[in-house]
Amino acid sequence: MEARTEISSLGEFGLIKRINQGIKNTLPDTIKGIGDDAAVIDLGTEEYGLLSSDMLMEGVHFDLTFFPLKHLGYKAISINVSDIAAMNGTPRQVTVNLALSNRFSVEAIDELYEGMKTACADFNVDLVGGDTSSSLSGLFISVSVFGKVQKDKIAYRNTAKPHDLLCVTGDLGGAYMGLQLLEREKQVFLADPNMQPDLEGKDYVIQRQLRPEARMDVVYELAEAGVLPTSMIDVSDGLASDLLHICAQSGVGAIVFEDKLPIDDQTYLAGTELNLSPITAAMNGGEDYELLFTVSQQAYDLIKNNPKISVIGYITDKKEEIMLHTQQDSRVPITAQGWS
Ligand code: ADP
Ligand code: MG
Repeated sequence: MEARTEISSLGEFGLIKRINQGIKNTLPDTIKGIGDDAAVIDLGTEEYGLLSSDMLMEGVHFDLTFFPLKHLGYKAISINVSDIAAMNGTPRQVTVNLALSNRFSVEAIDELYEGMKTACADFNVDLVGGDTSSSLSGLFISVSVFGKVQKDKIAYRNTAKPHDLLCVTGDLGGAYMGLQLLEREKQVFLADPNMQPDLEGKDYVIQRQLRPEARMDVVYELAEAGVLPTSMIDVSDGLASDLLHICAQSGVGAIVFEDKLPIDDQTYLAGTELNLSPITAAMNGGEDYELLFTVSQQAYDLIKNNPKISVIGYITDKKEEIMLHTQQDSRVPITAQGWS
């Protein structure tokens, strides 16, 4: 009998690692392959090309009972732009692959593209192609993005240095709380279709889930302030998981201060209502699409007055120690995993 290994025994990161081990890139202009937010390509100019792709699958990444197609289109573009932002780059062009079943009307696809067009306009990117297929069930969207970055401005995951400050943009945990609220309202509605959704005062966290904004604004502001991140990643899987990527790849440790985590009031409120910890949502919730980056200590004066940036900790040379300094002054290891 042929051997059969369950994918769950590797997990997401184990699987990607295994794929990576089997791939040997040979082209001289392939500067960076698997392992960062985008692949890096030498364009033979003073800029690198950046190439990345992300997909959204119905039933896995979104539920159309509460996900408006317009927002879904916006999100599909935005989460791809986010990976270019995470390289400190500028997005340029996207291609869009779609698979859809006959459940979708022409008008529905128009809606989806309305959202994509809005995102393309917001982030100043051109939608230049793609592919379309039928699907046996459900909707599948895959977007690829091409971007550019000045060679001396690129930010990798593997270049954080001990004593660097650890920074994050915006706030964390909101997208996760938004999803939990939407899921709850869905259950209420399924139980009694006459029930009206109770989402008042929850607009911010709902929007964090349905319509995340890639932080290109911060990429531009850092450049204007003359700050070059020493490393960067976007927070797609949760702060814990994404910090672990930076630390593992840079061979460093980190201390995060729980009381410095930026968490919106609506995230706290939702946490109380749903009996979920806002800290856990910030650490492990994911889908916030904020930027997690490091800067040298000298850069502190240049970022300290930017309300979009929180300094949440620092990098250490103890590479096995990635710790959360709690509000009770204890230190607990930060752990994370991808989907399994
Ligand atoms: P992100 O969350 O930034 O999109 P991922 O965690 O999805 O990054 O992927 C990590 C790295 O693994 C990236 O460099 C990505 O291109 C690569 N990768 C993911 N899935 C595959 C795959 N099926 N084949 C080859 N490379 C992959
Ligand atoms: Mg990423």
